[in-house]
Amino acid sequence: MGYNYHHIVVLGAAESGQGAAVLAKSKGFSVFVSESKGLSRETREFLIEEGISFEENGHTLEKILEATLVVKSPGIPGDIPLVQSILSSGIPVVSEIEFARPFSKGKTVCITGSNGKTTTALWIFHILKKAGLNVALAGNIGASYAKEVAQNDADWFVLELSSFQLDDMYEFKADIAVLTNISPDHLDRYNYQMDRYINAKLRILQNMDESCFFIYNADDIAVVEALSRISSSAVFAPFSITKAIDFGGYIQHENLIINIKTTTTMSIHELALKGKHNAQNALAAGIAARLLEIRPELVRESLTDFENVEHRLEFVAKVHGVEFINDSKATNINAAWYALESMERPTVWIVGGVDKGNDYSELIELVKSKVKAIVCLGLENQKIIEVFTPVAECIVETRSAGEAVKAAFKLAGAGSTVLLSPACASFDLFKNYEDRGIQFKKAVRNL
Ligand code: ADP
Repeated sequence: MGYNYHHIVVLGAAESGQGAAVLAKSKGFSVFVSESKGLSRETREFLIEEGISFEENGHTLEKILEATLVVKSPGIPGDIPLVQSILSSGIPVVSEIEFARPFSKGKTVCITGSNGKTTTALWIFHILKKAGLNVALAGNIGASYAKEVAQNDADWFVLELSSFQLDDMYEFKADIAVLTNISPDHLDRYNYQMDRYINAKLRILQNMDESCFFIYNADDIAVVEALSRISSSAVFAPFSITKAIDFGGYIQHENLIINIKTTTTMSIHELALKGKHNAQNALAAGIAARLLEIRPELVRESLTDFENVEHRLEFVAKVHGVEFINDSKATNINAAWYALESMERPTVWIVGGVDKGNDYSELIELVKSKVKAIVCLGLENQKIIEVFTPVAECIVETRSAGEAVKAAFKLAGAGSTVLLSPACASFDLFKNYEDRGIQFKKAVRNL
């Protein structure tokens, strides 16, 4: 169908919006950026330097309705009155990724899912780079895709896509897509309807045809069930940690096996990252690499020498026999589940923050078997205390990373692990999950 690029209005002036504006400008389109908040001096100067007109501290509807196409940043919900007015005026609203795609010569490997997107995207990027491909990383990580397309277009893009970005994608076609898993997260943006959230994730499949490959988690019931309801001509290459797969990858007898063209095998003990979830991420990355015909030897090597990603089950230090692990990025139950599941020593679990509708009961069995004490790190801990009091020997409440680390250290004792894996967002006590992880690491180093 194609869009009318005559006058582009970009909503939101963060990384994604700036990228879209730069691309629009570089293609010679007329462009206007509208931001509801005040801009940082840096952003303002950047837009002026690029010759991009903009407004801040609010949206002027009349100016926005002059658009022939609106590019909406993923942070702006689709149901706000402004977006509804644009849509009812018949102006298409798309994501920056949708907007940028036709202007790139490159192909895409797109990663979506509830958890593991960043890790898997970085892992795939690592392999493709090592194999010498002209590859860039964008989307939710690093620079925006649109900016990369405008300034450094590559042969391959590894794109991390959130469901918010997928919501505004219509014509985009992923050449290879990975769906890591689906578990409840961000349900607040989907009216607390899991079906709507699942459908958003499955939008990655739309437009994929027989020349495209779809890599997905065959152990994830929500994914498998959702796939059974749709038809797609993409070639499916699933992965599993429980059963053999003919075309895809799986784990058997502690070996990771990828069956794409030939069989690539390695021990799971050689994988750079530990835990079942990372075995799944490694499978997804390995399958993507093999689909791109990267040599098995190189795939094995890259699955071994990949470096851990900060704030994801990141080893911090051992202090008097107590090991500290920073998993601050675990902002939902599923991520915390995998973290707890991978613990091999008695664990003091630091949990809490802003809860996005958590059902903690899914963690009760793991807490029973792995956790010796719980340290709450949040303003509102009642739900956690209620669920875990019957199964935890000890629960304490803290209000800062420093307090939490001290309390956990006291409760731990040599031979134990202190795990920060909060299952919650961080905004009650911290700027974001990175700030929470950094403060945690600092407190450990101060012990
Ligand atoms: P995302 O980008 O989807 O948020 P990350 O790779 O940043 O994913 O990891 C987020 C959290 O989820 C971390 O706590 C990490 O340890 C955990 N995690 C990583 N991969 C998986 C997976 N495949 N399944 C469940 N949890 C995972």
